Amino acid sequence: MKLDWIKPADRLGSLPPYVFARLEELKLRAREQGLDLIDLGMGNPDGPTPQPVVEAAIAALQNPANHGYPPFEGTASFRRTITDWYYRRYNVKLDPEGEALPLLGSKEGLTHLALAYVNPGDLVLVPSPAYPAHFRGPLIAGANIHSLILKPENGWLIDIAAIPDAIAKQAKILYFNYPSNPTAATAPREFFEEMVAFARHYEILLVHDLCYAELAFDGYQPTSLLEIPGAKEIGVEFHTLSKTYNMAGWRVGFVVGNRHIVQGLRTLKTNLDYGIFAALQTAAETALQLPDVYLHEVQARYRTRRDFLIQGLAELGWTVPKPSATMYLWVACPPGIGSTDFALSVLQETGVVVTPGNAFGSGGEGYVRISLIAECDRLGEALRRFKQAGICYQASALVPSSD
Ligand SMILES: *Cc1c(COP(=O)(O)O)cnc(C)c1O
Repeated sequence: MKLDWIKPADRLGSLPPYVFARLEELKLRAREQGLDLIDLGMGNPDGPTPQPVVEAAIAALQNPANHGYPPFEGTASFRRTITDWYYRRYNVKLDPEGEALPLLGSKEGLTHLALAYVNPGDLVLVPSPAYPAHFRGPLIAGANIHSLILKPENGWLIDIAAIPDAIAKQAKILYFNYPSNPTAATAPREFFEEMVAFARHYEILLVHDLCYAELAFDGYQPTSLLEIPGAKEIGVEFHTLSKTYNMAGWRVGFVVGNRHIVQGLRTLKTNLDYGIFAALQTAAETALQLPDVYLHEVQARYRTRRDFLIQGLAELGWTVPKPSATMYLWVACPPGIGSTDFALSVLQETGVVVTPGNAFGSGGEGYVRISLIAECDRLGEALRRFKQAGICYQASALVPSSD
């Protein structure tokens, strides 16, 4: 029987092809051939969830009071823990009744925010490259996307002055994310001030994704959007427990900020889900209350890997800027080869998985993202294979020098 009449909705057709699909297929084939893959492709932290969090979850599972539907807006206790955490980190007071909402991971909230606020045809500003949910959510909602192409010469920051006035006037939402996935760039506080001034001037809903709030190194402290005066009038900020606490599988995140925007998202979600299993909300409270020594350990782990890999890549000809946050290196492809071809040839020749930059939008072309999600011995093995396969960066004679 032909099932032509059961066609997915047009909104699925509006999504760009998934660059990861081809990579997944090759990974599968390589595994079948018994190749020892080193997967540095995903942003999936490799360590275990901290033991106190696991223990809190086990204890909470034993309590039947947690077994029913949780409250739509999250437990009062978790919301208070979120706003207490926020105050401790950023010295910003938020109302746990209305200015904080737990999410089934921040990806869920980032995507649903678009469904709650975008009408078909609305204009949404999204950097390129960007975390895919920042453009895929709006596309599902029927948005027109205006890409803000990021450039290395601007330190991968959005060039606010380059946004045409006519575009800014039409725009409804702007998504942004520093420290950034995939570029690992960080933004100074003044940049956040400019973003807030821009969004207020043009009346644009500002969405900041601060999922690397705690994965910062060498004393660098990422800025929160809500630290900026006036930001709460137009903006919200998304957080996740996935990265800092190795809790990607637990699906716990939250949004904080403007109460009307939070309420809009909540209204939509009331129709879709019941929020996070209450036992996991209890465990998440334990995570947000872990002593700072835990953070220092996580930070040290990623910093060590960062330095190790940058050093090794330097010996193969790469000059990779040292990121002060995130769990990624953003690495230029050798001249003359595109992101997808480079990532595929690295996989085929070495069994090392890296993500082609164009998976994050056309602005990521010419780069690959390497996740620091393996111990140094495995990273060392990856480097040995690169060397053996002749995978290196050579400033090619094809590239004209600028002087
Ligand atoms: C990993 C990541 C997320 C997703 O986090 P979840 O809470 O696990 O859904 C969101 N934004 C960025 C930029 C990420 O890198």
